[in-house]
Order: sequence, then structure tokens, then C-alpha cells
Amino acid sequence: MKRPQRYAIIGGGINGLAVARQLLLDRPDIHVTVFEKEAAVARHQSSHNSGVVHAGLYYEPGGLKATLCRRGVALLKDYCQHNGLPYDECGKVVVALTPDELPRLEAIHRKAVANGVPDVEMIDAGRLREIEPNCVGLRALYSPRTAIVSYGQIAQCMAQEIEQRGGTIVLNAAVRRIDERGEQVQVELQGGQVHPELFDAAIACSGLQSDRLARQSGDAATPRIVPFFGQYYVIDERYKSHVKGLIYPVPDPRFPFLGVHFTKRIDGQMTIGPNAFLSLGRENYTGTDPSLRDIAAALTYPGLWKFGARNVPAMLRELKTVLSEKVFVREAARYVPSLADVAVTPAVRGIRAQAMESDGRLVDDFVIRQSRRVTHIRNAPSPGATSSLAIGEHIVRNLIRP
Ligand SMILES: Cc1cc2nc3c(=O)[nH]c(=O)nc-3n(C[C@H](O)[C@H](O)[C@H](O)COP(=O)(O)OP(=O)(O)OC[C@H]3O[C@@H](n4cnc5c(N)ncnc54)[C@H](O)[C@@H]3O)c2cc1C
Repeated sequence: MKRPQRYAIIGGGINGLAVARQLLLDRPDIHVTVFEKEAAVARHQSSHNSGVVHAGLYYEPGGLKATLCRRGVALLKDYCQHNGLPYDECGKVVVALTPDELPRLEAIHRKAVANGVPDVEMIDAGRLREIEPNCVGLRALYSPRTAIVSYGQIAQCMAQEIEQRGGTIVLNAAVRRIDERGEQVQVELQGGQVHPELFDAAIACSGLQSDRLARQSGDAATPRIVPFFGQYYVIDERYKSHVKGLIYPVPDPRFPFLGVHFTKRIDGQMTIGPNAFLSLGRENYTGTDPSLRDIAAALTYPGLWKFGARNVPAMLRELKTVLSEKVFVREAARYVPSLADVAVTPAVRGIRAQAMESDGRLVDDFVIRQSRRVTHIRNAPSPGATSSLAIGEHIVRNLIRP
């Protein structure tokens, strides 16, 4: 009798778990092993994010982000309903404060319509006040279906499901290299020890470490991951009702992060953030634990210098919000003036695994690269969590086809 196929997934974040789950759903006969370097799943980006289920407003129509985000929303909503996980369609407004932002807001509206985002509309200041009574602005884009969830909780639920379906999750297992040897794939752990099982294929979903694992395993050295942290602050409990849902600025087109926004959390807290600045370490969540290896890797990458030279005004603006809590809060309070002096407490940072080309361009779309038996996710920043179930489906059904 033929032995069952074996698949290795590297990385137990929401994307690795989604791939493992999809494999087990489509092919219950195969063996799936997830290798996760931490003592629990989803300790990195998948539990340090804004918790927003993006509706698909900003993404280039036809690209992977646009298609997988839209499909991801449908799958995620269904998954939460099916598993009794909270999913709150609290809605979102993207607000233009000045006339020069209006053409950019219109362009986002056109993209949202092209991407098939349901019920989006351009609204005037009066309607904005009905939706968000404390918010000011000239005009806004309203997306009533944008939702919030806990991606950490969703990832935990997927991990349980994987084990129930017969998959194995190996914790504290950092993979150093994936070695494609003829018809088989060997997984080498940090320390040089080789995992005893041989696999038919491997899928690397290792987030902040994805470029390193790819390079060690023979894939191209670029794009590299350049870590950008995002700080959050929780606003004083007594003021959280000043914002009903999600309030976002019109993003700076030259700087591809969404800008400091008000985010309602699924646990009821109201946060402000995240800003975006170069992190002195890929896993330096406190900001007080810099990694010399990561700093050296970033500073010796020509792409970073080219990016920096092109983005001086945006980086200075972000730096001001890093250095001063007051500036940070005031930045957000331009949209909700009643919160200009609100007391805040810092929350844990998130660190984005953002891929950058050697010419300094930030890679916009998701990037998934494949050799015969090894697939690497090389770029899956936001809306990577929204899209996770669709990323899993895409990798399993369109790319590896077990
Ligand atoms: C500040 C911030 C805000 C965000 N907001 C949103 C949002 O509102 N909505 C949204 O959709 N997306 C958002 N995102 C993006 C989203 O969080 C990510 O796209 C998503 O979590 C990526 O999941 P992942 O599984 O690819 O990576 P990760 O969650 O980083 O998981 C990678 C896993 O691989 C493991 N690993 C790494 N190297 C190895 C190795 N060598 N061996 C074994 N294991 C390894 C890590 O320990 C980790 O568990 C945000 C991200 C950040 C940082």
C-alpha cells in the first residue's frame, strides 16, 4: 500500500495554520506537521495587530491582496460564526480633512467598488456626524461591513481544529533550513538536528523570519524583511464611547501604511495606533530589547537607505509620534477633537513583516514563491490576517494541489 503523503508547514501563525487546516480539510488522508519555534502558536504578528477584518478598500483590483482579502472576509465570517467566535461588523470611516485629500479618497472609493466591497459609499460631513457624532471631516468613505475580531483567538481555534483533524503541531521547533532532495524534503532544525520524518512538500509561513528561512533553503535573497513596528495606546475607558467603530485617515500614497487610526477592539477597548517606524529588532516588542543581528541586517541592506532617502518627511512625521505620546494622541485627535487631551496607556507593539526590494521599494502585494516541492510566503503584511483562510485555500488548491 502507498504511504500517505506528508506535508511540513513552517510557522504556526495564522497563515501557516490556515494552510495546515486547508490541507487536512481537502485531503484527510495526508499527514500534516506544523513546526513552530515558540512555545505556543500565534505569538508574533497574528496576535499583535489591529484586529480589523479589512473589507478590501485599498488594494489594486485583480492583485492577490484584493482577491484574497475579499475571499478571506467571507471565509473568516463563516469561520467565526461556525466556531462561536466574536465577529463585530462595527463599520469604518476613512476621513478626508483637507481638500487635497479628496481625490485620493475618491480613488480609494473606485478601488473598493472595483474590488466588490459591499455597501461602500462616499458620505458628506452631515452623514459622517450621524455615524460618528464626534468625528470631523469634509467627506468620508463609509464601509459598514468592515469588522473586528481577535486573530489570536481565531488562530488558537484553528490550532485545535488541526489537532482534532489528525495534524501535529510541534512547538519549540525552530527550523533552520528546508532541504529539497529529489522527491523528498528534509527539515533541519536550529542546532543542526534533522527531523526524522521526510516530507513530500513543505510550505514556509514564517512571517518576520521568512526571508532568512527562504535564503537558507536556497530561495532568492530578496526581497528582504524590514521590520516596521506599530505602537498602540488604549484610551481612558471613560472616553471610549466618543468613537463608535473605526476611524481612519486617508493614507499617504507614498508611505504604504494606513496611518494612526481609532480602532475599537473586540474586547471593548478603544485604541489609537499604529504608527510605523523602523524596529530595532524583528521581535523587539518592548522597544527595550534591540537585536544587533537584526539592526546590522537592516543597516547593511542598500534598500533601506534608498527607502529612507525617499521617505524623509513621512519618517520624520512618524518619528514625532514615536518620541511623544502627546503628538501621537494629537495626530489622531485631528479626527475626534474631543479626545485631544485624553489619557492613554501604552499597549504592546506589533511588528510588521514588510518585504522590501533592494531598490528601496516596499513590496505591495502578497508574494508567494514556489519551487518544485517548497513554497515560501515572502510577503504577507496587512490584510494578511483577514486573508489568511483564503491564502490557505489559494496555496493548497492553486499552487501545491496535493
Ligand atoms: C501592527 C500590525 C497591525 C496589523 N493589523 C492588521 C489588521 O487589522 N488586519 C489584518 O488583516 N492584518 C493586520 N496585520 C497583518 C497581520 O497581522 C499579518 O498579515 C498576519 O498575522 C501574518 O500571519 P503569518 O502567519 O504570516 O505571520 P506570523 O503571525 O508572524 O507567524 C509566523 C510564525 O512563524 C514562526 N516562525 C518564524 N520563523 C520560524 C522558524 N524558522 N521555524 C519555526 N517557526 C518559525 C513564528 O514564531 C510565528 O509564529 C497587522 C500587522 C501588524 C504588525
